[in-house]
Amino acid sequence: MKKILHRAWTEIDLNALAHNINAIKAGLPEKTQLMAVVKANAYGHGDETICRKLWSLGVKWFAVSNLEEALTVRKVCPEAEIFILGYTPPECAVDIAKYNIIQGIVSLEYAEQLCRYANVPIRCHIKLDTGMGRIGFRSKDTAKCIEELMPLFKMDKLSIEGLYTHFAVADSPEKEDIAYTYEQKKRLFNVYDMLAEKGHRLPHVHCMNSAASVYDPDDRCTLARVGIIMYGLCPNYPVPVPIDLKPVMTFKSVVSQVKTAYPGDCISYGRTYTAETERKIATVTVGYADGYARLLSGKGKALVHGTACPIVGRVCMDQMMLDVTDVTVPVVSGDEVTLFGDCEITADWLAAQYGTIGYEIICGISKRVPRITV
Ligand SMILES: *Cc1c(COP(=O)(O)O)cnc(C)c1O
Repeated sequence: MKKILHRAWTEIDLNALAHNINAIKAGLPEKTQLMAVVKANAYGHGDETICRKLWSLGVKWFAVSNLEEALTVRKVCPEAEIFILGYTPPECAVDIAKYNIIQGIVSLEYAEQLCRYANVPIRCHIKLDTGMGRIGFRSKDTAKCIEELMPLFKMDKLSIEGLYTHFAVADSPEKEDIAYTYEQKKRLFNVYDMLAEKGHRLPHVHCMNSAASVYDPDDRCTLARVGIIMYGLCPNYPVPVPIDLKPVMTFKSVVSQVKTAYPGDCISYGRTYTAETERKIATVTVGYADGYARLLSGKGKALVHGTACPIVGRVCMDQMMLDVTDVTVPVVSGDEVTLFGDCEITADWLAAQYGTIGYEIICGISKRVPRITV
């Protein structure tokens, strides 16, 4: 077994994952199955470990962003339904079919390209752009959209099993945003219902992300594409979610040295911090090369023996410094530091300190940081 390098590592709490899955399932309509969004290495948590656990918890559907991720899921969950949300180069059509993967179809042009390379029918769901403005068939005008979709049903290399869309502001409590999401949903179901009238009653229809799944679950959806809440973070921090979530990832590091800074002493590149009084400064073995953002310089905090200690000076590539003066016990080389996780410093809180979202933090933990299952 590979020895764990106690430098910077994440602890992945699979019991927290199970707890979150139970809480999420309890809030979903009875007919809505959970589609676990495990793109980007399961939001940085390690997709193999996460998928294996999810499968053992009874999750049957998985969503990824690309074919490579899909094949990783296929390896650990041979029986799962795997859905590619994003772009797959058409020349990979044979692999999509070979591994029994479901592809999102965003345009007629893409469908034609895919069919040109396919040897057998490709399982797919049609993606509607109902207001996100990213990918999919425009659907403001239902009749026009239907007209655009009809050629897809004549393609013998497509096996169309679903229709879906993605919300832009389902995480927002603002009145106009709630109305916007309502309109997006209306556009989806208008198209869905009209397709059914034309004889194409598709087995699946879905639009809910994490936010919609907790704030406004809809029992017409056969699937809920749930990402961030599964990992225990909020879709729109600090807006609370109505279910109890536990962060799955905790990011830790250690102290390599503690020294006293005297008035006038500078800390780190750029001399952005100068001690005004005598301070205890701990150097921690984590930096931006580990995915700990340099923008947290002078803004973030980390826990040492339970005390939140401010970062002083700039975060370096592999190291950073904390002011540990207020820690009540002596801090020594080798002491553990909790950077964020299942504690008072959540990834959501830390993200807010420098203007980003928890999603970016957890996805950004770099490859050199081992993921340890606990
Ligand atoms: C990433 C993604 C999701 C999951 O979003 P969360 O906010 O993490 O739940 C759902 N649907 C699509 C299309 C996505 O790209």
